[in-house]
Amino acid sequence: MGDTSQPADQLHRRGLMFILSSPSGAGKTTLSRMLLAKDPEIMLSVSATTRPPRPGEIDGVHYHFVSPDRFQAMVDEDDFYEWAEVFGHRYGTPKGAIRAGLKAGQDFLFDIDWQGTQQLYQKDQQDVVRVFILPPSIEELHNRLKGRGTDSAEVIAARMERARAEISHWDGYDYVIINDDIDVCFDKVRAILEAERMKRMRQTGLIPFVRGLMG
Ligand code: ADP
Ligand code: 5GP
Repeated sequence: MGDTSQPADQLHRRGLMFILSSPSGAGKTTLSRMLLAKDPEIMLSVSATTRPPRPGEIDGVHYHFVSPDRFQAMVDEDDFYEWAEVFGHRYGTPKGAIRAGLKAGQDFLFDIDWQGTQQLYQKDQQDVVRVFILPPSIEELHNRLKGRGTDSAEVIAARMERARAEISHWDGYDYVIINDDIDVCFDKVRAILEAERMKRMRQTGLIPFVRGLMG
């Protein structure tokens, strides 16, 4: 065989962009944290924002904090996969670091809504894997939002209202998982990720490997 410096089961592959979306309260934050803790090959995509850092936030870790002028220059130079204005500040997914990472085999996790998903998918269909998380029932969604203890009754009511609209975009995803038991759901998320990593088009190391097999 030609190159013996790399074990055959660790051939080079292209990274992927793994999107987890869900109506608020269905569990995407919980699943994202579990994935980042368990899987060393995936990292959270770091967005750029014009919002000032909150106490404890680190530039380059939580966000790339940039001035409005710098953000506009990046928009003009087509440096974003997607961007949006949220509560008066601009947020965007910068292409540069992700492109380089994908080439090097790094996977990126995105915890974004259906609009961001559509934009990302339009820019780069080959590298994007879209997963939608559904709650087992509307009652359970409500219970989880209440149980999380982060929102007032009014905010919960607004989130429930929005949840119905978000659920209506379920058919814009490659995979849909119902998050009933969290461990079962997490196993499914990992199974999708593992299978997607093995897709032939992502396994860029296969061509020289197979060439070697065939002598
Ligand atoms: P999202 O990020 O989609 O808004 P979270 O991950 O914050 O949702 O989950 C909402 C709440 O529901 C949290 O308190 C979380 O611990 C809880 N939760 C998530 N998944 C499950 C599950 N499968 N069973 C029970 N509770 C869950
Ligand atoms: P926060 O200021 O609380 O960190 O984020 C506010 C909102 O901006 C959240 O809803 C978050 O999902 C959204 N957001 C963060 N980064 C991006 C991004 O890169 N693109 C888009 N479209 N929204 C983002």
